[in-house]
Amino acid sequence: MSGADAGEGPVDAIVVGAGPNGLAAAITLARAGRSVRVYEAAPNAGGGTRTAELTLPGFRHDVCSTILPLTVASPFFRTIDLGAHGVELVHPEAPFAHPLDGGRAAVLERSVKATAAELSPEDGRAWRRIFGPLVRSADHLAEELLRPVLHVPRHPLALARFGPLALRSADGFARGRFADEPARALFAGVAAHSMLRLDRPLTASFGLVLATFAHSAGWPMVRGGSAAVADALVAELEAAGGSVVTNRRVDSIADLPPRRVVLFDVTPRQLLAIAGDALPRRTRRNAERFRYGSGVFKVDWALDGPIPWTADGPRRAATVHLGGTLPEIMAAEAEVAAGRHPERPFVLLAQYQRWDGSRAPAGKGTAWAYCHVPAGSTVDMTARVEAQIERFAPGFLDLILARSTHAPAAMETYDANYVNPVDYLRWTGAFRIRTFPFHFGSTTSAQSFGASAALTACVLYAITSGVM
Ligand SMILES: Cc1cc2nc3c(=O)[nH]c(=O)nc-3n(C[C@H](O)[C@H](O)[C@H](O)COP(=O)(O)OP(=O)(O)OC[C@H]3O[C@@H](n4cnc5c(N)ncnc54)[C@H](O)[C@@H]3O)c2cc1C
Repeated sequence: MSGADAGEGPVDAIVVGAGPNGLAAAITLARAGRSVRVYEAAPNAGGGTRTAELTLPGFRHDVCSTILPLTVASPFFRTIDLGAHGVELVHPEAPFAHPLDGGRAAVLERSVKATAAELSPEDGRAWRRIFGPLVRSADHLAEELLRPVLHVPRHPLALARFGPLALRSADGFARGRFADEPARALFAGVAAHSMLRLDRPLTASFGLVLATFAHSAGWPMVRGGSAAVADALVAELEAAGGSVVTNRRVDSIADLPPRRVVLFDVTPRQLLAIAGDALPRRTRRNAERFRYGSGVFKVDWALDGPIPWTADGPRRAATVHLGGTLPEIMAAEAEVAAGRHPERPFVLLAQYQRWDGSRAPAGKGTAWAYCHVPAGSTVDMTARVEAQIERFAPGFLDLILARSTHAPAAMETYDANYVNPVDYLRWTGAFRIRTFPFHFGSTTSAQSFGASAALTACVLYAITSGVM
């Protein structure tokens, strides 16, 4: 337990779950002068924002979230001086890279112009035409996109620019806008964060948003590990008068002390278990209908040195997308959507050694990666993930000192919210869930810190609409 709070007395607001979104909601309430307490099932706060020695002593690994663009881009995070809480955001030279066979690589650089310069002249012009205007209105776009979907736009022009592009599938967008493979693959790799088939409408939106933030805000990591962000959020909450009670799983709202409002940082299935009987019928039906998406298979490595990429590009970026060409990534994601395990999965990898020496003993390094797998998968994807890295960095396997793996079931044990980890479908489903009455405010975000703003908006609404 943190703060001077006794842990069970009456309060204005209770938040269930001390992930970044739950903490963001609690901070917003506390800043508005409400007494607020967060109950967290785990021994420490942070949810998906924790860091641990998963492999060997002295090797620190981010258990889930590791690259945190929204700590810079999210309007909520702009209200927190992370530096004053000892959080140092580290920006690699380039936000992300995408190696291709034959020693080639496409790189998303911080500058749109520099990115375009490395593509073919035709694709470079297209990249500038698409991302130049989006990056110029990135702040307005962030304000619009990190709010509940149904709202009166404050920046209609920014939305009007983004909307028509975002409606398309990532595949259609990449093939329609770019002529050559490097640009197509670069876009497909970032769009594949969606965990959806890339021929589905709207999947272009993921690539557009994430690439825009990569240009405008960068894709930073946190020196020493993401847990520092969770610590900062807890400190910010305590400074505003709120508290976190850890090791306290909430199984039923009947067990909660008197309060005026409860907010849930949990998924619909958990919400039904905890508060199902108390929910209005329509809300309950929405939660029951909620469809969970695919899962992830996660691998962390302790390494004997930096990853020996063949191409130069991936040496300059902390995030590397490994999946080859657009058709290859399309095929891998389609396999997952069909409930199968791709032989050559699309792999998202983060490496740290070059920028953050504090995560491993001198001369050693760590790496983090995951691939998408069907919901409920128990298949060990380690060899397939490592083969994709070895394909673009021969010699990687020889550097492995130790590894830690988490299949979807292990992820759910770690954090009950990860019914299927990084469940981006939760994000889309959240549009409905967020229409819950505010005495059962909820977030089901998987878009990491982005949705903090959405939950925060709900809380603010709860206050201003007189619910509290
Ligand atoms: C493998 C992986 C990699 C990721 N990488 C990134 C990344 O690089 N960048 C990024 O931005 N995002 C990333 N994400 C997503 C990010 O971790 C999540 O979006 C974020 O953690 C969601 O925050 P949240 O507060 O909504 O939920 P969570 O972080 O899941 O927090 C929910 C909290 O609620 C607690 N809880 C659940 N049920 C109860 C209960 N009944 N009673 C009490 N407490 C309860 C849980 O223990 C947990 O602490 C990744 C996720 C995964 C799984």
